[in-house]
Amino acid sequence: MVGVAFQLFIDNVRDYAIFMLDPDGHIATWNKGAERIKGYTAAEILGKHFSILYTEADRRRHHPDEVLAIARRTGHHQEENWRVRKDGSRFWASVVITAVRGRNGELLGFGKVTRDLTERKRQEERERHLQRERTARAEAEAANRAKSEFLTAMSHELRTPLNAVMGYVDLLDHGVYGPITGEQAQSLDRIRKSSEYLLRLISGVLNLSRIEAGQVDYDIRDVPVNGAIEAVTPLVAPQFRAKRIAFSVTSCAPGIAMRTDSTRLQQILLNLLSNAHKFTPRGGRISVFCESDEMHVRIHVRDTGPGIAPERLAAIFEPFVQLGRGGADETRQPGVGLGLAISRDIARAMHGDITVESEPGRGSTFTLRLPRSTNE
Ligand code: ADP
Repeated sequence: MVGVAFQLFIDNVRDYAIFMLDPDGHIATWNKGAERIKGYTAAEILGKHFSILYTEADRRRHHPDEVLAIARRTGHHQEENWRVRKDGSRFWASVVITAVRGRNGELLGFGKVTRDLTERKRQEERERHLQRERTARAEAEAANRAKSEFLTAMSHELRTPLNAVMGYVDLLDHGVYGPITGEQAQSLDRIRKSSEYLLRLISGVLNLSRIEAGQVDYDIRDVPVNGAIEAVTPLVAPQFRAKRIAFSVTSCAPGIAMRTDSTRLQQILLNLLSNAHKFTPRGGRISVFCESDEMHVRIHVRDTGPGIAPERLAAIFEPFVQLGRGGADETRQPGVGLGLAISRDIARAMHGDITVESEPGRGSTFTLRLPRSTNE
């Protein structure tokens, strides 16, 4: 009775393929699990040689014969390896093969128990992959930290003598060491301009590397949008007036706030406004206007400058990209091409973004988007 029950149990187990081979390796029994895992019905497979279940490569190197030889010799063989289903797909199998001998030691056949471990193998591979990614990320972060530590140290080393250069230029210019000629004054002015440019460049590189290394802290609060705009406009209004640029602000609905660091927000707005100033010709127009939906607030800075060619729109956000440098406009302060890269990095770090719409000859509109506060 127990024997029959045991047979029924073996036949119906679904998680394990349990079957017998005759001494030559032909399949002699086949249970439900084997049918499910390998895809053959008993009628299809009984009598076939068990090597049909191995991969082509394993068959070529006579692996099935070896397995039987080992089991015959030692009584037992165990492995994890690829096996092939009826439909040709592969699965990762854990296989135990046991020689079955009669009372007098004669070989009756082999018992095989196979489990499909494909899912476990995939999981292990996913974990290995994740681990590799984690290691790569940690290495990249360490390299980035080393880079920004180097840049921080370097920029400090570069700034100190540069400040001395600028200090001595001022002393010479003020006639501390005696009167200077007009030509000398002009040269001093050039030295001063170049030094200032270099100083801006060094500060820009330092800022960018700090932001990119995630070394900048953001004090994120609810910042009223109109208040933020009103805080920066007095800083740029005199320059606009001097260039006879018409300037207008269209405020947001009262009370609208965004989630941001107000100092960083001002830094971005100032950058966009001073770019607008830089590129807008005398007598042009700059307008700031605000828009909001449920999730975001957008501040647009529109100018009537020369605009940007479509194929250059993406590039201007890359570090050190400047378009049309060295133009005829001598009054223009040379930029270093880092302002937009820094501003966009900051906006993104605060879950926002900066985008631009522009057409040559039709001005540009830069848009800063930031998350809208939910506690207005
Ligand atoms: P910088 O102004 O120091 O050169 P930015 O990163 O601020 O660097 O700007 C990069 C480039 O994008 C500028 O050199 C300019 O070519 C272009 N650009 C930025 N703002 C404007 C604007 N308002 N109108 C036209 N071009 C602009």
